[in-house]
Amino acid sequence: MTIEFEYWWLLIPPLFFTLGWVAARVDIKQLIAESTTLPAAYFKGLNFLISAQHDKAVDAFSEAIHANTDSLELHFALGSLFRRTGETDRAINMHLNLLEKKELTPNQKIAVKAELAHDYLKAGLFDRAEELFKDLNDQRYQQPALHSLLEIYVREREWTLAIETATELERLSGIPFRKEIAQYYCELAMNSIITEQPKEAKAQLLNALDANKNCVRANVLLGDLNAKVGNNATAISHWKRIEFQQPEYLGLVAKKLLRSYAATKKPDEGLTLLNTYLENYKLPSLMSALYEATLAEQGAESAAKLARNELIRQPSLQTLDQLLQARAMSDSSGKKTSSQDIQLMQQTVRNAIGNRAAYHCNQCGFRAKQYHWQCPACNAWESLPAEPSEAIHREMTIKK
Ligand SMILES: [Zn+2]
Repeated sequence: MTIEFEYWWLLIPPLFFTLGWVAARVDIKQLIAESTTLPAAYFKGLNFLISAQHDKAVDAFSEAIHANTDSLELHFALGSLFRRTGETDRAINMHLNLLEKKELTPNQKIAVKAELAHDYLKAGLFDRAEELFKDLNDQRYQQPALHSLLEIYVREREWTLAIETATELERLSGIPFRKEIAQYYCELAMNSIITEQPKEAKAQLLNALDANKNCVRANVLLGDLNAKVGNNATAISHWKRIEFQQPEYLGLVAKKLLRSYAATKKPDEGLTLLNTYLENYKLPSLMSALYEATLAEQGAESAAKLARNELIRQPSLQTLDQLLQARAMSDSSGKKTSSQDIQLMQQTVRNAIGNRAAYHCNQCGFRAKQYHWQCPACNAWESLPAEPSEAIHREMTIKK
């Protein structure tokens, strides 16, 4: 009896093997059936996308949607293409039509609303976009929606809302927004300065430093506020703090420092401080401020000496221009030809420098003539270098 029972056991493995084989065949058949329901136009569209032919991709995806009107993914792909090609009205219409479909599940409805919100954002309809993004109370969309809301608030210059949103994003994602939050406080302070509310401005600037102790802009503005009402010593102490925050920004306050030192009848102390800064950080803007002040305070001889020493330490066309200018002014030899030569040399140097010095955004490459805390092109904060760079310098370094 026991032997018969063991024979039965031996039959079990082949049975399972057969069952598994059948199951596998069924799965494969199903897979083939599913893939053939994807219209050929879909793959055509993907090909156009890969080769960045967006207009042709739009046509192919439109055709694919005709063949398969139920596919939400296809609609989303087409919508995102519409946004990219600037046809936001077509994207908006398509998503609004989709929302009217009764057979959408609640989850699908939220997904369509998220797409529609992006359409509105791209179209610049910020109020409608804001409303929809706020309405996306689904875990999956929370962080992207907050990112988009933050973008809207920054563009609309709604700084208080931007601070709230960035703080919430920081809490949810763990990604720091300190630099941005401090800049939003500085923007609030700027508004207070414009409307002549210095007390409020100071409070907002202290908030900025609370958010980011390395916020240079807050100290620049705190110094400005104090200097404006004659508190030059306090102004100087704020500007001096920049050295311990980000010394590469010292050029932004070089002239301000000299002015406040002059106002407190200590112009030499200002020159000494700037000289130390120049020695330690070698910033061209510090050299410019120092050269001009030396020329005004101590005359052309001293200015020429300063430029010569700096030129030995760090050759640059800007300093050579300064040296030639000071030499032309201090030339007391009376020889007409020599002063003409100097003028000629200076002219040549000026031509070589041109006025190509500019601040280049390290995020998008935008070229700005003036320093901006926020890049006018890509809206990134503190993305411009603290010192302008000359195109000629860049070419020279590339040639090396
Ligand atoms: Zn930029």
